Amino acid sequence: MKKENRPVIGITTCIMAHSQKRYAAVSDGYIRSVHEAGGLTMLLPMVCDPDVLGSYLKLIDGLLLTGGNEEISPQLYGEDPMCNVDCINSERDSCESQLLQLAVACGMPVLGICRGMQLMNVAGGGTLYQDIFSQLEHPLGHMPKAMPVDALYHRVKLLEASILRRIFGTETLMVNSFHHQAVKRVADSFIVTARAEDGIIEAIEHKEHPFAVGVQWHPEDLTRKHRHFLRLFETFVEVAGDRNE
Ligand code: MN
Repeated sequence: MKKENRPVIGITTCIMAHSQKRYAAVSDGYIRSVHEAGGLTMLLPMVCDPDVLGSYLKLIDGLLLTGGNEEISPQLYGEDPMCNVDCINSERDSCESQLLQLAVACGMPVLGICRGMQLMNVAGGGTLYQDIFSQLEHPLGHMPKAMPVDALYHRVKLLEASILRRIFGTETLMVNSFHHQAVKRVADSFIVTARAEDGIIEAIEHKEHPFAVGVQWHPEDLTRKHRHFLRLFETFVEVAGDRNE
């Protein structure tokens, strides 16, 4: 048997500079949530070599595309950056896009969180609002600066026929929100499965792939205080495990 019963979830990392050093970093919430959901974690370094990425893919059962401050390069959807889009990391874009492509091609479950969801959409040919607060007329709050990461902030409505609706068993869900960008045109291969009251897209799911789900909020920061969010990770880990039976 290739693995023990715990599916391995590959988690994408980013580079963080601190005290003149560069660290491969990931928010601990992702790791803790996957562990609590019954999975093992493998942190995926930001390398752009397709052979290396392919080798990493063979070691994991599910791919978690994480969030982060770095905006996806607007060049990837044919635009130049607006003035407040100032934290672009093309290397990360490229590395994560390649991982995603490899994962989708082999039917591996993918969970994209915040930036991860936006990456799934752009990699699939969709576009983003670079800044919802200047590009949309009446956006509600999506980026509360002084709220804790585990604070429920706004409602989202879940589409009836969706994986998320099955997972949470409710039409309306309160979520946290820390984003100034959002999906604009949805990639052809995805459907919208959650929206905020102002129409902002809060979740997408792949039309054909058994589990390629993106959420705009941060469930990994909610699993401790609001336990029902762990169900998303449990389902993800379970589907990842099913593939190898
Ligand atoms: Mn939001």
